[in-house]
Amino acid sequence: METLVTCSYKDGICRYCKSAGYDGRFCVKKAITFATACIRHVSEGGFDVSDEVYKERLSICETCSERQDEICIQCGCHLPLKARWATQECPLKKWPELDLTSLLPAKSRPKCCG
Ligand code: SF4
Ligand SMILES: [Zn+2]
Repeated sequence: METLVTCSYKDGICRYCKSAGYDGRFCVKKAITFATACIRHVSEGGFDVSDEVYKERLSICETCSERQDEICIQCGCHLPLKARWATQECPLKKWPELDLTSLLPAKSRPKCCG
């Protein structure tokens, strides 16, 4: 089971940090990526994208070869969270450009997703 801060293994190697390991191993690289994304999200106002943008982003990730379960192997991010935050971008530029007028303050979004 992959989480925000555990390695994402394929054939015994974490596709993100490239280290060998075991299920549940703490991924230092992923943890640093997550902390950096949190700081940026908060420092730039904590804005979320609309539900429409969120769903569109995740539907693009759904068919992407860089997705492993809920993790983007390109950037190490947890996709349900990454897709929601306005400060996040697809590292391969597959997501559509963000319309800044559609942003929502984090506290106003529905509670249904992570
Ligand atoms: S964020 Fe981009 S690179 Fe990562 S899984 Fe989604 S579409 Fe693929
Ligand atoms: Zn790792």
